[in-house]
Amino acid sequence: MAIRIDTPQKIRFLKFIYSQKDGVKSGDIAGKFGIRTSTVTRSLHELGEAGYIRYDPYQKVVLTTEGENITRFIQRRHRILSLMFNRAGLSEHDACEQAEKIEHLVPKEHVDQICRSLGHPRKAACGIIERDPACCGDFI
Ligand SMILES: [Zn+2]
Ligand SMILES: [Zn+2]
Repeated sequence: MAIRIDTPQKIRFLKFIYSQKDGVKSGDIAGKFGIRTSTVTRSLHELGEAGYIRYDPYQKVVLTTEGENITRFIQRRHRILSLMFNRAGLSEHDACEQAEKIEHLVPKEHVDQICRSLGHPRKAACGIIERDPACCGDFI
């Protein structure tokens, strides 16, 4: 299964929708990120076609199960990359910022390799790293 969320903007949208348990309106997203509603609408349309959100212009946007899964992966990927930069000497703030710039380009297999090389870490500066049983195993 190929996971493909190809722009930093879509990643930000998914994280925001994920953080709002009751769903969001496209206007909320436009306001939050300071961009035009028409731009938001186009991205939401694409996310809907990809099966990650339920999108109806007259309803609040919510994630599908698949959308929730990918957003949890996106969060794990961000935190692993951020920790990698941090361990390589960047400050927590810079590590987080650099991770945001490149994370959309890094595929899961590489995230898992980095996770392994870091010893399957539990925590980065920006939050808890959720375990992925396929990478980190089931052990406590
Ligand atoms: Zn971060
Ligand atoms: Zn792991």
